[in-house]
Amino acid sequence: MRKCKICEKGNLIAVEDIALDVEGYVFILRGERCDSCNEEFPYQEETQRAISIARKLGVWPEPLKLYRHLSKSGKGLVFRVPSDLEKQLKLNENIEISITKVGKKMVIEAEN
Ligand SMILES: [Zn+2]
Repeated sequence: MRKCKICEKGNLIAVEDIALDVEGYVFILRGERCDSCNEEFPYQEETQRAISIARKLGVWPEPLKLYRHLSKSGKGLVFRVPSDLEKQLKLNENIEISITKVGKKMVIEAEN
């Protein structure tokens, strides 16, 4: 069984109920979920399928709402950037980001 890359202690269990919310449309994707931290990893082809359906519905690509859990690391919390956003926004570890608090929201902008 594969270990979770986020918490490094949970096992990845195959699931068929990962909810992806795109502008009020909920897509149910197959993928894997960690049995410890509950981080979800939809299969790449499932994400692609949801994207192509969403495009047909005219609700892609902006704005995209993804649900993610924060991971604990030391005394802080770690936010993992979804891989499709990483590719879309051409992010990497050298890019500086700015974090702005707007009411209850947190806006993360890549400074590139
Ligand atoms: Zn985990």
